[in-house]
Amino acid sequence: MMSFKRRNKNSKQNAFKLFMEDLMEKKLQKYISTQEAQLYWNQLSEYEKEEYKYKAKKLKEELGVQIAGKSLSIATPQSEFEKRLKMENDKFGEQEVKKSIEDSIDIGTIDDKVFYIISTETFYEDSRDVFPCELAIAKFSLKRGIFDSLQIRINPGPLPLGTAYTAIEKSKNKHKYPIPSNDENDEVKQSSYILILEKIITFIHPLDEIPMFFAEGHKSNDFDILYNTKRTLQKIFIEGCEYQIARELQVFSISDLFYYLNEYLVKSSKINGLTQFSCPVSAYDKFKRITQSWLYSIGNYSCVYHNEEDCSQFCCLYKVHLFCFIIAAFCCDKSKYPLIRGQHYPKNYAVET
Ligand SMILES: [Zn+2]
Repeated sequence: MMSFKRRNKNSKQNAFKLFMEDLMEKKLQKYISTQEAQLYWNQLSEYEKEEYKYKAKKLKEELGVQIAGKSLSIATPQSEFEKRLKMENDKFGEQEVKKSIEDSIDIGTIDDKVFYIISTETFYEDSRDVFPCELAIAKFSLKRGIFDSLQIRINPGPLPLGTAYTAIEKSKNKHKYPIPSNDENDEVKQSSYILILEKIITFIHPLDEIPMFFAEGHKSNDFDILYNTKRTLQKIFIEGCEYQIARELQVFSISDLFYYLNEYLVKSSKINGLTQFSCPVSAYDKFKRITQSWLYSIGNYSCVYHNEEDCSQFCCLYKVHLFCFIIAAFCCDKSKYPLIRGQHYPKNYAVET
């Protein structure tokens, strides 16, 4: 009730007014003077004040969305405070991952359940927007390993003014994709977000619901990678005019998946002496170390461009393969189903690890 009332109030909403409303509610009073409220306000900690400021800002943004009808916010939290709040409120669904895996174990479908592993790279991003350059998604199941994948090179259109230098530096040091020009060529055609969205939807077809996506990073470690992957995916859906889906999209931490699948293996397998992790954070720690040590060794799994440039380690397609191989090495039960070369472990590995 309260939030509905607030939302219909207009943009004059601010932190102090929100605080006054809460105060009246707490004291069960219909009216409280500004002076009296000010006294209480002064007693708040900086953290509590920040919290009201954040809420007021969010309400304003929601109002903006309602008025514009279009501009869905994909902003990154600005301050450390906001980041913390964001992480506390939206823990990137650790419990949801756990529940989804447990449900599949209960009904006996876990070995065939398909997980969508995603990796994205950007030319440039700031607190307001992201400008993606590459995206890759892999379909992975315990029984089949990585059995299908999609890679798309993205031209995000013109970058914001004054960001070219940062974007060029990032390109040189990281993904190696040249900054897109505005020349008429196939690349431009490929850049249409509607076409990109179509490819993604065709890839996840015939699902009637949006799948759970899993990406690198964890709320405790490399949170920005996880969060930017989510923003990139949201951006594509927003630009493709799928606002409702954009809101509902969820990108979960790959280490939560890694941890709970490993837990299932350890509990259900006949094999002795399997590696087991104490918690999702330590699972991510291990996951990251293996990513580093396998980074140059899994063979030719990158896209044509990154393969030609001889820098597979920066390729999103290569990364989703690497991630799937790591999950398979620690979560698949070779005593129950045969491990498949090229799907559970790299083609160039003599024996699966
Ligand atoms: Zn690539």
